[in-house]
Amino acid sequence: MEKKDIRSIKYEALTEIVKGYGEKAFRANQLYDWIHVKLVESFEEMGNISKDLKSKLSDEYMIYPVKKVTMQESKIDGTRKYLFSLHDDQLVESVFMRYSHGNSVCVSSQVGCRMGCKFCASTIDGLSRNLTAGEILGQVYAIQRDTGERVSNIVIMGSGEPFDNFDNVTDFLDLISHEKGLNISGRNITVSTCGIVPKIYEFADMEFAATLAISLHASNDEKRKEIMPIANSYSIDEIINACKYFFDKTGRRLTFEYSLIVGVNDKDEDAKELSDILSGLNCHVNLIPVNPIKERSFESPSKEGALRFKNKLEKNHINVTIRREMGRDIDGACGQLRRRFL
Ligand code: SAH
Repeated sequence: MEKKDIRSIKYEALTEIVKGYGEKAFRANQLYDWIHVKLVESFEEMGNISKDLKSKLSDEYMIYPVKKVTMQESKIDGTRKYLFSLHDDQLVESVFMRYSHGNSVCVSSQVGCRMGCKFCASTIDGLSRNLTAGEILGQVYAIQRDTGERVSNIVIMGSGEPFDNFDNVTDFLDLISHEKGLNISGRNITVSTCGIVPKIYEFADMEFAATLAISLHASNDEKRKEIMPIANSYSIDEIINACKYFFDKTGRRLTFEYSLIVGVNDKDEDAKELSDILSGLNCHVNLIPVNPIKERSFESPSKEGALRFKNKLEKNHINVTIRREMGRDIDGACGQLRRRFL
């Protein structure tokens, strides 16, 4: 039988498991602390847990490994890109960024991705598999161990579509925000989706107050279909309605990501149409000059081009910033994470 990933088990369930072995409930507290605060990578490292309990646990569970294979550091901004290997030799990438407001980790939610966005490297070889909640956590824990620095912000913007791995991603959110774990609050977490509408509703109903970021990238459905296959399933109208619902449920302002691609979505009329769609919505637009990937010939706008687009939006009273790109020299920027093979 394949062993289960104990790092994926939520606090309440862990308590039940421990009680099931005839142990006192506080043992669950100790276990959770070893796994989610002391960030151990094996049962052997757990000092105050009895040999007996450890051996019972290790018959059924293990801590799925998330092992550093390589780490590259950007010469421009100190951003680090990590390549991790998993128990089945699959590989995922994660990025560590230092900001004035704290350290942020960008985690992957899947090995590869099946969404097929034309401008993104993560989807080029398709989806290999979902990550467990523990493997998503493992990226953060490994980075915190490696850097020795506290991670205070999480963005789920690595490879994969988080809402295509909904249950594991929401378990991850529960585990990482738990007061007995790293205790990173929803306010410091951003979940980015290409817009799987039913899952936006489901997420809103959980009332988990994270920031929801929507990868919009186009101001009408026809254009969006050209670059994002998901647009064939859900219209921009449906996305906006789901966003309104999310705001009503959580009170959290939405973020819209818009990768500027020369000749595709960067014209004045695009800015105008985008302003119309978003007017009246409590939101913020994040412009990302598209990062080049070698398989595609998409062109990134000049600084002036991006500023011009930004000004157009601002004139229409839309909150907008141009994303400060981190780690572009190490292929660690948005859309540059990809499946790699050993
Ligand atoms: N699947 C999720 C998570 C990926 S997040 C989503 O689609 O939101 C990464 C963000 O970077 C998304 O907004 C994605 O659309 C954007 N992106 C992808 N490729 C990019 C590229 N080459 N340049 C700039 N942004 C890109």
